[in-house]
This record gives sequence, C-alpha cells and structure tokens, in this order.
Amino acid sequence: MDLQKRFDKLKKLGLCDRCLGRQFARLGYGLQNYERGAILKESKEIHKNIFSQENIPQDISPKDDCFLCRGFFNKLDKYEKMVIAALTNYEFNNLLIGTRFPQNIKDKEKEIWEVCGDQYIEPIKTEFNRLLGKRVLKRLDVTVEFNNPDITVLVDLTKDKVELQISSVFIYGQYNKYSRNLPQTEWRYKNQYSESIQEIVQAPFVEASKAKEGKFHGAGREDIDVRCFGKREFVLELVAPKKRSIALKKLQKQVNMIQDKVEIFNLDFTVKDKKKELKGKRANKIYRALAVLSKGIEEKDFKKLKQIVGTIKQDTPQRVSHKRAKLTRKREIYKIDYDKLTSKKIDLTIKAEAGAYIKELISGDEGRTRPSVSQILGCEAKCKRLDVLDIEK
Ligand SMILES: [Zn+2]
Repeated sequence: MDLQKRFDKLKKLGLCDRCLGRQFARLGYGLQNYERGAILKESKEIHKNIFSQENIPQDISPKDDCFLCRGFFNKLDKYEKMVIAALTNYEFNNLLIGTRFPQNIKDKEKEIWEVCGDQYIEPIKTEFNRLLGKRVLKRLDVTVEFNNPDITVLVDLTKDKVELQISSVFIYGQYNKYSRNLPQTEWRYKNQYSESIQEIVQAPFVEASKAKEGKFHGAGREDIDVRCFGKREFVLELVAPKKRSIALKKLQKQVNMIQDKVEIFNLDFTVKDKKKELKGKRANKIYRALAVLSKGIEEKDFKKLKQIVGTIKQDTPQRVSHKRAKLTRKREIYKIDYDKLTSKKIDLTIKAEAGAYIKELISGDEGRTRPSVSQILGCEAKCKRLDVLDIEK
C-alpha cells in the first residue's frame, strides 16, 4: 500500500501519537514512536524523510493514550518497579524481558494492520518490551540474553503481575561410589534407603545456591550393591537457584570431607545439553567380579572362560523384568581375565560393552544369558561382589 494512503487511513482512527508513530517505526533514526506520531499530526503529507529530529514539534508529551495502548505506556514506571522488586533476591548476569498483552489489544492491532497495511510497523508488544527492558537493564547493570537467559521476566499486563522463570544452574562432575548399600537417586528408593548419591552430593550445592531442589542426571547407573571406581559422569541440576556464583572447588572438598561413601571429581559449570549428551553415551566398562562356584574347578577348565569373549545374548534379566522391556540384547564382551582364589572362588576382570548385565553374565540367569560363566564351567556360579573399575570417557 502506498505510504500516503496508509497515512490517510490511519489518521482517521484517532490513535495517540505513540500508536500512530509505531505504524511507521522503521522509518527515520533516533526517534521515539511518540515523536514520529507528533511529527505526523502536524503534517498532511507523509514522505520517508519527514522523520527527523528537526521536524519534532515543540512541547510534545509521551503521556498521551488511546483505545489501542490503553495507557499502558504511562505505567512503565510502575512495571519497572515491579520487575526490580521481583528480582530482588536473585543473582543473575543477564535477563530476557517479555510482556503478555491483553488479547483484545492484539486483536485491534491486527485489525489495523489488515485495513491500513503493515509496512514499517513495530508491534505494540515489541515497543513495550524494548522500553521496559532498556529501563530495567540500565537500573540493574546487566545485559539482555535472547537464547539462554539466567532469568526470563514475564510482565503480565492482563493480571498486573510479574512472573519469573529462573534457569537452572548445571554442574558437571564425576563420582566414585565406595558403598554397597547406596542407590544413585533419591526418588527411586525413597522408602528403602535413608540416603543416596544424589542427596549426599547435592546437599551443599542446593544450600549454597538456595535452589528449590536438585536433580541428578547420571551417565547410567550402577546397582545399589555395586561400587564404582571408574569416575562416572553426572550433571547436577540446581532448580530455580537464587545464587549462581557457587564455589565449586570448596563444595567439592566439603562433600568429600564429611563422608566416605561417595567421592566427587572435576566439577565444572556446564550447559543444559550436557544432560542429554551424558544420557546418550554408551560407554564401555571394565568390571571386577567375585564369582563363587557350586563345585571346585580345575585350573585347565578355568582357561575355557576365554570362550566368553565375543557376542553374548541376554534376555531381559528376571530381577529387572518389572521395569525393563522384554528383549534379547546382543552385547560384546571384549576381554576376560581371572584370578583363582580357591577352586570355588575366582576374581574376574571383564571388559564389556555398555548395557551388558554382568551379574547375569556370571550366573547365566537360568539360560537367559548365553554364554555365561556358569554354562562354560558347567556348574552354578554367583556374582558375590561387583565393582566398576573403569568407564570409558
Ligand atoms: Zn495509543
């Protein structure tokens, strides 16, 4: 639509200076929309060069309002104060500010664009965000961040309320577990166990950050009775933290000093995506297992254990069948070494592909795992103790 034609149509609507000027917001530099509007109100004609500082009339006020903006721009002071107050107890380095405008204002604005064209416009919401954002960022001396802000502020004009979305803080780390009586996360075994790796590790971090809660994302998990010396990777998520600058080294030391069931290493701040990366990792592992046999085995028969190297088939073990899909999995066993303790006890060192069930590799799980230590030695075999010695990174 021709610029003059647009102007003629818009003039008849009774918009305030700011709302009129906003319809031509992308013309002219260094002007406020209400200044653009004031220039137009003094003129019958419009051309692209009209929007300049020298054409701004004397004694204009930004305080005008109309049916479209309904005076919301005159309340910027109030919303600025509300946002600052809502953010008082939070630490952050950057922000994103958004506004929820009443639906009928958005509808009216759309109607105007349909009738009068939408070239050179700025949406009312964008102008409001821009002006409010500028004030708040200046007051707090922080920067705007569009992709991953520490805090997203939503000013809801329909409810006259400010809502905050606080981004989690993510901390990468690795752990060893020295207890045979400790689950990884709190929620899974809440009633059976008094504590978990998660609770031990997260407690000082939740406290220091004043987070609402912690979430523990491990790169896989070991059974409750399995120790881990392989430095398993994890991401600790601190949900809705009030403080974001956390002394990682100091808290790592604290966790390691006050108890001896879990030790944590190599903490560092990380990003949300690290969580997914760890979940998707399929790391090979080296295990040490103490196997107890139902009968004494001769040295030459132990040598047969090497036959287990290669591809094994594992039907879903009986002990986890209530929580895992019934499948036959193929897994690689890369290496097995043994150390005979007595004729009925051996220490096994096994290198296996991610997801192999080692307890069943030893017992055979009544034929569900093939081949198995039990099958090869021709007797019952039980995994009495299991440790993860190494996890490939
Ligand atoms: Zn207006």
